[in-house]
Amino acid sequence: MKYPRIEVFCPCMEDPDNTSSNVPATIWDRNSCRGLEWLYFCDYCQSLRCPRCIQEEIICRYCPNCLFEVTSQTAKAEENACSRNCFDCPLCKASMRVISRERQNEDDAPTYELICNHCEWKSGDQNMVFTRHPSLVTQVAELEAPTKTRFKELQKYNHQNAVEQLTKENTSTFTKIIDKKKRTKMPLEIQTQELDSDNDEDDNTKKLIPVRRRLRTKRAKRCMGCRQMLVRPESKPTSIGFKVRQLAMNHLPSLAVTSHSTESYPSILTNGALYTFRLTVSNIITTPIKVTLATLPLDSENHPHKVTIISPTFDLGPAPELWDEASLVRGVPSSSIVRETNTTKKVFMEGDRESGTGGIYERGKNWVTVLMEIVPSASVPEVDIPLFVSYSAEDLNIGFWTMARLGQTN
Ligand SMILES: [Zn+2]
Ligand SMILES: [Zn+2]
Ligand SMILES: [Zn+2]
Ligand SMILES: [Zn+2]
Repeated sequence: MKYPRIEVFCPCMEDPDNTSSNVPATIWDRNSCRGLEWLYFCDYCQSLRCPRCIQEEIICRYCPNCLFEVTSQTAKAEENACSRNCFDCPLCKASMRVISRERQNEDDAPTYELICNHCEWKSGDQNMVFTRHPSLVTQVAELEAPTKTRFKELQKYNHQNAVEQLTKENTSTFTKIIDKKKRTKMPLEIQTQELDSDNDEDDNTKKLIPVRRRLRTKRAKRCMGCRQMLVRPESKPTSIGFKVRQLAMNHLPSLAVTSHSTESYPSILTNGALYTFRLTVSNIITTPIKVTLATLPLDSENHPHKVTIISPTFDLGPAPELWDEASLVRGVPSSSIVRETNTTKKVFMEGDRESGTGGIYERGKNWVTVLMEIVPSASVPEVDIPLFVSYSAEDLNIGFWTMARLGQTN
């Protein structure tokens, strides 16, 4: 895990009846926080949505190789694989192409083989040669058939075995059944060997067979609260555009935490020592906003670390309407700019950056860096600092929780 980092909390695992505290109870659950890039924002509910509180709908199934779109019925019938000549190499998974083989005699019917575009594995080397008819997919399916039958046999055998053993012993409680099930799965290798040994004559199962390319899907995502569309890609497989894309990173101010010290980042944060971090908050919307940061008071159970945010309230200017090289440079703190170019020189000469005023470490047009002091306590293994970010503009007032994960204690 990389330290330090900021994750954003989604409240969807909270018990809605629990209103006893302003602090969400599930914020300490690691599964409730993720990077901002994984989250969506529903502007109707004015709330964050994470992969757990959205609903997905498949809007298109297609082959990622030939970009051919298939219906759900065809996908089902073809076992979610491309029905055209799209195959992956059984050795390296790269795509394969069909080549025609040299004819011995002029009158011979033309034959073909599949060759890997990357490692050059050839199906012909295993005597896997194809003819013009029937289709290549049908011919490969015939080669796959013994393996599939074998798999089904094994599945059936395993299932029967488990059922027999379960009925033999009179297991009364659910836990016993689960235990037994686990144990019956154990001798899988032995069972495979048993099945293998009486079918040794079948060569096809030992052959490497080109793998039919698996289909991909494009999915729309809806808000679970109000069913509003949060993400809708263009339905054509060839298009990479989106009709709707409500990403949290396009709505919420972003937070980044870096070390204030020039020394390398400590692998362990020492109990009782004072550490200073830089916290940079950037505005991504084209309206000026006012931001307030808050954290939890000391509490011995979950939050025993002492936290001081110097200058927790500040204004942020609007994000640029157009993103060019200069506005990208304008959007990051000086300490994050490691290489000097003509653009960085130009931006520094503009004099938009101020430092050291009113407790603020540095500020640009749409971002501010403030300092955060932490005295970690070793009574918990992680230094995780919950930060509540509230921001407001003319007709906007939104608050969300984030978690600054700073490292481990000794
Ligand atoms: Zn959620
Ligand atoms: Zn295909
Ligand atoms: Zn290959
Ligand atoms: Zn919603």
